[in-house]
Amino acid sequence: MNMPVMNAPASPPATDPLDALFDAMFKPMNAQGVYARTGAYESVVEALAAFISARREAETEVFRFPPVMSRAHLERHGYLKSFPNLLGCVSCLEGTETEIRASADKHLEGGDWTADLETADLVLTPAACYPVYPIAAARGAVPATGYRFDVACDCFRREPSRHLDRLQSFRMREYVRIGTPEQIVAFRESWIATATAMADELGLPYTVETASDPFFGRLGQIMAFSQLEQALKFELLIPLRGAAAGTACMSFNYHREHFGTTWGLNLEDGEPAHTGCVAFGMDRLAVALFATHGERIDAWPAPVRAALKL
Ligand code: ATP
Ligand code: ZN
Ligand code: MG
Repeated sequence: MNMPVMNAPASPPATDPLDALFDAMFKPMNAQGVYARTGAYESVVEALAAFISARREAETEVFRFPPVMSRAHLERHGYLKSFPNLLGCVSCLEGTETEIRASADKHLEGGDWTADLETADLVLTPAACYPVYPIAAARGAVPATGYRFDVACDCFRREPSRHLDRLQSFRMREYVRIGTPEQIVAFRESWIATATAMADELGLPYTVETASDPFFGRLGQIMAFSQLEQALKFELLIPLRGAAAGTACMSFNYHREHFGTTWGLNLEDGEPAHTGCVAFGMDRLAVALFATHGERIDAWPAPVRAALKL
């Protein structure tokens, strides 16, 4: 039998030290990686959001996206080539009242109503920055100063896990830069510096390392190698389990001309724009704060509480 071993995370310890924090942060909702968030946890997420907003650069446009986006747009992004295994697609019962009633009643009769679902024109948004590129492209040529966006979204990725730092439904906040290669490289460098200073202020230990996306399948391994080789992705990793490898809580991504070409997003000279983004995993950062400083926020180090105004 073929075992689906692609992209499997390193095998976990028998009991995860993060489990002890579950009740302080979450309540179960009958699905791995989908949790109700406690008031204490959410106060940390809100404080982190404000902490990140305070560092927003001038001339940055803000958008907040819904948790669903156009399926056609995500297909055009190339998501099915790179991460088909992670995608969640919306499906609904369509038809007349009689048809929908008949499908729903299958459930009441102990049958399978889901066989009647039809694929909708929506998918669950897997990353906060995807919807911004077509919005920018619709404006015509990118001005010489480029664009800066601040975006956020509830994201979905089909990677169920018992580990509290790998959710299926999680919040992502991003700063996005669109412009010339020089503008993107400068943006990414300055954000790596800012982000490490932020981690210092939050009392979080970290390393910054080159990384690759978990591209799907055998072809994906080649894509991942090329991404590493070109140093297109860096991650800020925070150790959440003692000496074990850290968890990626922020990522710094240079997409080169990928989105520019995909969306006809061009510079004034007609060349495709380059793009980059810095992504903050809001839930991972909150989990990292609890894992590092303990489950009682009022016992966290005073400078950390001061930085977060908690
Ligand atoms: P990983 O290698 O851990 O799967 P990733 O490379 O898939 O992470 P990105 O695509 O760069 O992550 O997403 C940006 C940020 O969103 C990550 O740095 C992380 O903080 C957060 N994130 C990604 N996947 C998850 C998840 N399943 N649960 C919680 N946060 C996540
Ligand atoms: Zn992004
Ligand atoms: Mg991932």
